[in-house]
Formats: sequence, C-alpha cells, structure tokens
Amino acid sequence: MTELPAGPPDARAVPRFAGPDTFARLPRLADVNSAAVAVLGVPFDSGVSYRPGARFGPASVRAGSKLLRPYHPGLGVEPWNVHQVADAGDVAVNPFDLAEAVSQVEAGARSALTAAGHLIAVGGDHTIALPLLRATAERHGPVALIHFDAHLDTWDTYFGAPYTHGTPFRRAVEEGLLALECSAHVGVRGPLYSAADLSEDRGLGFATVSTAELARRGVDEAVDRIRQRVGNRPVYVSVDIDVLDPAHAPGTGTPEPGGLTTRELQLILRGLDGVRLAGADVVEVSPPYDHAELTALAAANVVYELLGLFALADAPSPRSADGAWNQAAPGAT
Ligand code: MN
Ligand code: MN
Repeated sequence: MTELPAGPPDARAVPRFAGPDTFARLPRLADVNSAAVAVLGVPFDSGVSYRPGARFGPASVRAGSKLLRPYHPGLGVEPWNVHQVADAGDVAVNPFDLAEAVSQVEAGARSALTAAGHLIAVGGDHTIALPLLRATAERHGPVALIHFDAHLDTWDTYFGAPYTHGTPFRRAVEEGLLALECSAHVGVRGPLYSAADLSEDRGLGFATVSTAELARRGVDEAVDRIRQRVGNRPVYVSVDIDVLDPAHAPGTGTPEPGGLTTRELQLILRGLDGVRLAGADVVEVSPPYDHAELTALAAANVVYELLGLFALADAPSPRSADGAWNQAAPGAT
C-alpha cells in the first residue's frame, strides 16, 4: 500500500484557524523536497495602472484557502492526496524596479520548478504572467494560453513602459512563448480606448470568448470552444480575478461590472478536465478593496479547481461517480 503524500493537518483535529499559514495548510515545498504541484506566492503590484494592493494577494488567498477540504466532488478527486502538493512560499520581488522584478519572478519560478513538477502562482498583479510564461515555455515549448480576464492585457505600453499589468501577453507574443492559434481570452468586457484594441489583439492571433457571448450561449459552449482551441497543446491558464463580476470579486485593481459569477468560472475550469495543463496563475487579488473575504475565497477556490485538474492528470481511473456533480442533472437519490 502506498503512503499518502504529506498533507494538511486534519481540520477535525486541528481547527482551520490554527496550524500552518501555507496554502490550504499544506506543507512547505522545502519540507517535502519535491512536489507534483507547488503554489508560489508573488507579492508584487508595481505594475498596476489603477488600484494597488495586489502585493498583499498571496497572504489573503492563503488565508482564504483554510476552508478547502480534501475531496473535490465536482471532479471526483482528492487534489492533494493523489500526489504531493506544497506551498513554495513567496518570491522576493523588487517593488521599485519593474524590469528587475520581472527577472526575479522568472528566476523564482525556475527555482521552484527544480523541486516542483508544475506551478500555480498566486499574485500579485498581472505583470507576473510574462516571467511565469517564460519559465513554463522553457519546459514545455510555446503554450496554449487560456486567459480569463475582463481585459485583453495585450496593450503595447503604458506611459512608455513595456512591463505593466496591461501588457504581459503582448510581450509573451513577441518572445514566442505562446501557441497563438491555440490561445484565447475568456471573459473580456468593459470599455476600451478604441475599436483598434480588439482588432490589434485579433491581429496578434488570439481568439476571444467575451462575457456577453458566454452569457448568451452558456458555459458548455464556452468550454467546447476553449477545448477545440487548445487541442492537445500544453496549456497555461492565467486567471485575472477581475474576470469575475465585482459582486463576486470586489477586491481587485481594475474592476469591470457585468462579469462572470464564481460558479460560472468554476464550471468552465472543471470543463477543462483532460487538457494538458502545464502551469497556471491567479492574479490581481487586492485585499484592501475586498469585502468579507469574497475575493480571497473565490481566488482560493480557483486555485483548488486548478489543483483538481492537475490531480486528475495523475489520478488512477475510474473516477468517482460523484463527478456527476459536474453534470446538469444530479442523481435523484
Ligand atoms: Mn483584468
Ligand atoms: Mn489582467
């Protein structure tokens, strides 16, 4: 019989508000030496264009993760019992120098990847996606980017600055980190500077599933489109928490009304079961603007969905029938 990976303390023995302050109270990466997946904090918000505060995101998402339990009924998997999951701590990032910060995140991700098979980074503002993509593409080649965000984040510069939270994917395209024919933005909405923002983005090669389209056609069709788009490519999932409506995620830097519900985002992520997930990030949680931990809880649960997807890739089959929670009509009993 194989031993279970090191996990969190049992919340029926050690209350959730006690014990380690790591993500889901999981062990630290340094304490388990290696892990299939590690959660890496990137407390950095010097790339924001509006509200700051995402530097406090990793701490708040860890706090919001304490209520997570071992079994994910929607996916029929136990995310941290299938393989070792750990918290890799925070990257120490220069808050005054964007270019140096970007290289520090890249080095931090690379270093964590020497001990972890995959990373889920918790930001931090969206600037960090570029160095994370560099570290991921180095291992997997150009990745299919599934980018959940109210915004395109493919602007060229802000105030002449190339590294900002509105430009990471333009830089990623220029650096050849993305398989563009397999990449898509999901949840785009809100006012733009001009119609050219959309046509320029299309010109780069991205597809878009807008929030309006999602609302009209539903989660299943969005999932179908995303799955067709990514095919068999290694996938990087980048979740800007502002893809959610401000009612569901008020604690963020650039809120746009009319967004997804937390439930819609969860269902779309579950629909990615079986794609070749290479890495992921969850960014733009700004706790000073949060209320009642809404945003921190949503972000922690998004990380949990991603951990579930990684676990499914390693889980012995067949999966539990409780995966039926994911379906439209649950069993009558
Ligand atoms: Mn955004
Ligand atoms: Mn963004």
